[in-house]
Amino acid sequence: MADTKNVLVLENFIAGKFVSCASYLDSYDPSTGNVYCRVPDSGRDEVQAAVAAAQNAFPGWSSKSPQERSLIMNKLAELIEHDLEAFAQAESKDQGKTITFARMVDIPRAVYNFRFFASSILHHTTECTQMDHMGCMHYTIRTPVGIAGLISPWNLPLYLLTWKIAPAIASGNTVIAKPSEMTSVTAWMMCKLLDKAGIPPGVVNIIFGSGPKVGDALVSHPEVPLISFTGSTLTAQHIMERSAPYCKKLSLELGGKNPAIIFEDAKLEECIPTTVRSSFANQGEICLCTSRIFVQRSIYNEFLKRFVEAAKKLKVGSPSDPTADMGALISKEHLAKVSNYVKVAQAEGARILCGEGVDTLNIPSRNQTGYFMPPTVITDIQDDSCCMQEEIFGPVTCVVVFDTEEEVISRANSVKYGLAATIWSSNVGRVHRVAKRLQSGLVWTNCWLIRDLNLPFGGMKASGIGREGAKESYEFFTEVKTITIKH
Ligand code: NAD
Repeated sequence: MADTKNVLVLENFIAGKFVSCASYLDSYDPSTGNVYCRVPDSGRDEVQAAVAAAQNAFPGWSSKSPQERSLIMNKLAELIEHDLEAFAQAESKDQGKTITFARMVDIPRAVYNFRFFASSILHHTTECTQMDHMGCMHYTIRTPVGIAGLISPWNLPLYLLTWKIAPAIASGNTVIAKPSEMTSVTAWMMCKLLDKAGIPPGVVNIIFGSGPKVGDALVSHPEVPLISFTGSTLTAQHIMERSAPYCKKLSLELGGKNPAIIFEDAKLEECIPTTVRSSFANQGEICLCTSRIFVQRSIYNEFLKRFVEAAKKLKVGSPSDPTADMGALISKEHLAKVSNYVKVAQAEGARILCGEGVDTLNIPSRNQTGYFMPPTVITDIQDDSCCMQEEIFGPVTCVVVFDTEEEVISRANSVKYGLAATIWSSNVGRVHRVAKRLQSGLVWTNCWLIRDLNLPFGGMKASGIGREGAKESYEFFTEVKTITIKH
């Protein structure tokens, strides 16, 4: 590690050692626009070195018992938890999210990811059937796939990276992980704890750099048989193409355009604060965030008034301010993209009820060059507008009116994505009916983002392929084999 002029210089982590790189990329603090760190601009050579390290480590790691791997992973969880505050500060500075969100969500969840898979790996069983008339029994075994390539996005950096590393190593694989080039710091900090936790060299290798360069090298490497990717649908299409010649195992967790459906019998006192949170948490930069709100006509005006009042109360501030509800967006380019959606909506005749172009931000002077945007609510917008069809991935949500159950199901399903939906109603029959017909991998009713990691997570349509969870991740990171014995 080097620390020159307060700019961190990160290094790759290969075979248990930090290794410098020939060239570096700048990574910015989104709350000021200043360079925060320099990230290795890795490519094929670094991936090749990591593949060699992961291959060497595989026989030893895969032959350890689940109990041994579990103990090591629990130790790693403990070490990250011990440094929780330092990790949270780094995540907030690197990503622009509030320190409160990093402290309460990102880092505790990264810790829990290791604890959860350290525990769940102890409880899987395989199958056995008998065929007495043939004098046979059949049974299955599961073996780790080999070297897992793991690629994660910038919105929940350590949280999503560990959601992949934990099940991969628990199942006996060795890994090469590539975090987003925009948010690499906490992954690099974690590398410093791996040896202390007892993770042997080469089991976890982390290579930093850009998607088209190092990401592509990982995806197209013939010795990496499995890729777990979380990110945009467009990048997933590249990954599918690049990995197709090798028939790799792929898990793809992609974007969303998530509806909230609010029926007239919804309990608005719970629905409104939760829908404000589901629209604007982490600046709206969560794949599960609500971006289309359908409200039944009889409560539309009341909902809209109360929703906008609540959204306006959110404090956008410096990420380090513990009273801020929202921090900065990830980058200058992303801010321009998100605010452009609002301009397009306005040009189409939609109304902007609060936020971009309507409210002025009250940001401290040191943050004037940061990438901030107020929570923005759009209404009077058509379903075919790009703001209602495309993933914006920022603090922008559209509110529209509906009349019937049948109508709202069809409109909610009329996008290419199918990740998450929320339903608000006191009618249990209606909740079951609507949940069943929504094209969505996850449906929350009268709540949002309550997760049991045991259960499958993932999307349908353009939101992804495959599911992650205790059983699903175990199945993905292992190969099953059926063995038949005749006596
Ligand atoms: P992105 O697709 O631009 O990048 C994701 C990762 O892929 C990064 O590490 C990037 O460097 C890498 N990458 C880019 N091009 C690549 C290539 N050609 N080959 C290999 N790797 C490449 O996505 P992003 O902007 O970082 O993240 C935002 C997206 O992620 C949104 O669409 C969001 O919905 C999605 N997301 C989905 C989930 C989920 O669980 N479904 C969770 C979080 C974010």
